[in-house]
Amino acid sequence: MSHVAQVISLSLCRADRVISLLQQPAAVASALFPIFADLHDRPVLVVGGGAVAERKLAALLEAGALPRIQALSLSPAIQAWLQAGRVSWIGPRFHPRALDDVWLVVAATDDHQLNREVAAAAQQRRVFANIVDDAELSSVHVPARVQRGELQIAISSGGGAPMVARHVRKQLETWFDDSWGALTALFARHRQTIRARYPDTAQRRRFFEQILQSELPRWLRQHQSERAEDYLHEALLAPPTRSAGSVVLVGAGPGDPGLLTLHALRAINEADIILHDRLVSDDVLQLARRDAQRIEVGKSAGHHSMRQEAIHELMLEHARAGRRVVRLKGGDPFVFGRGGEELEVLRAHGIAFEVIPGITAAVACAAYAGIPLTHRDHVQSLRLVTAHCKDSLDTLDWQALAQSRQTLAFYMGVAGLEVIQARLAAEGCPPSTPFALIENGSRANQRVLVGRLDQVAQAAREHDIRSPALLIIGEVAALAESLHWFGAAPLHSGQTQNVVPSLPHAA
Ligand code: SAH
Repeated sequence: MSHVAQVISLSLCRADRVISLLQQPAAVASALFPIFADLHDRPVLVVGGGAVAERKLAALLEAGALPRIQALSLSPAIQAWLQAGRVSWIGPRFHPRALDDVWLVVAATDDHQLNREVAAAAQQRRVFANIVDDAELSSVHVPARVQRGELQIAISSGGGAPMVARHVRKQLETWFDDSWGALTALFARHRQTIRARYPDTAQRRRFFEQILQSELPRWLRQHQSERAEDYLHEALLAPPTRSAGSVVLVGAGPGDPGLLTLHALRAINEADIILHDRLVSDDVLQLARRDAQRIEVGKSAGHHSMRQEAIHELMLEHARAGRRVVRLKGGDPFVFGRGGEELEVLRAHGIAFEVIPGITAAVACAAYAGIPLTHRDHVQSLRLVTAHCKDSLDTLDWQALAQSRQTLAFYMGVAGLEVIQARLAAEGCPPSTPFALIENGSRANQRVLVGRLDQVAQAAREHDIRSPALLIIGEVAALAESLHWFGAAPLHSGQTQNVVPSLPHAA
């Protein structure tokens, strides 16, 4: 029998009694008493058969309850449950007798008078009543909750401010990933063994804290449950003495902190030390734990502030000292980010790692400039190209890049614009091919410059475009003119005002 099915959380409110028992000031004494109720195989009455009743019934069924319904009409989903024998229908009208052998009643109707009747009858029979959307009539509230397997977190605002409870729930949703369900299950499975090994509660708690600091949670996050299980067995024989350090390679996205993934946010929050590139925006760094140490190890094209080997050394040093290191990179760590090299070093030195992808500049800049990178009729491929120094420009296959029906996204290309323009022209790319140059994409100071390929270098000089900027070349670039939505409207060089801002035959 699953525990998940057994548990539904209820908050219990018997303010009148509590006050008389405790003789406390009302503000303290009327606080709700939180409980998790086991409703498995227990009858529950639901009054109402509409959409709200349906939601309540779904939760009750999940908890293994035996719902009985009193309602004039039933929604199609409730009818289906009825046919499947999962709920029973005991009549069109509420009758107080129906409360005689139930553990709980839920009134989910929009008839206020009926709701009052249900509440009063329940009060008389000492059956807990949840009157949907009416905290005052309810003797139990159903909290907002976060569920990870058998781990449930219930949030209550005392019934007065459900918006606040919902907001807190959203925050908690981001803090606790799925692995908390697995961790809960793992500890539940080994509960007896752990208790036998550590009969003393304080010791048991210390053991748990050590486990939380160990690599076990990481195995669970990586869906390697066997390894986690083995680790727990070993830890029960000999507890981990020192937490093993690890490195998380995190993609920070292009600058807008809203483009961080939930995993990235969690990793940044848990970091002891953050080694970040120059490209990582201040807004993103603001989100890091206040006491986390931050070291800028950043590089930008032509501006090497720390050698790659020195970055490797720093990662190793801090991980070996048992710290949780976050190596935070602009965009995605595996797109022109040297993430692969860093992982090779970590693997060679036996340091555990995780990789959290980020939104790469091409994807973000295109979105924030209103440029669809592909187009069903006109663009069949997208190329991400680095143009960061003369060598890399020389080794590119320009003939292939000059082909039509593709979109090119040049990273680190500001210094190489003359070369890009000339080499593409030399391979027959039409001079009128649209380009968009996006500077500081997704940031408050984003600028988008659009025009024709034969003017890109001059236009960038005129408008003093600087790194970080991403160059998009291809038919789709022209759409920035009509689809822009973020920041200032696109700029153009003098002669480019007449570029037609749509694709030929765009449907
Ligand atoms: N790993 C990063 C790329 C690093 S290379 C990613 O996936 O995005 C650095 C280059 O990325 C810059 O020179 C620029 O071309 C591009 N870039 C990164 N952030 C940018 C931004 N906010 N706006 C425009 N270009 C950006």
